[in-house]
Amino acid sequence: MDCLGCRIANGIEPDLNLIYENEFVTCVLDIGPFNEGHVLILPKQHYLDIEELDSNTA
Ligand SMILES: [Zn+2]
Repeated sequence: MDCLGCRIANGIEPDLNLIYENEFVTCVLDIGPFNEGHVLILPKQHYLDIEELDSNTA
């Protein structure tokens, strides 16, 4: 799994600031936030574009 987003979403990257997780997504605090509370919502399946998301993940 060479995609950083997928590694984070699937718990392979250490020291995550986990906010929320379900069967479709993992939500973590961004390590380089644009503002306080900047959260990344990462799908557990690999997608190249947000328009490719299946309806459950979206
Ligand atoms: Zn990926």
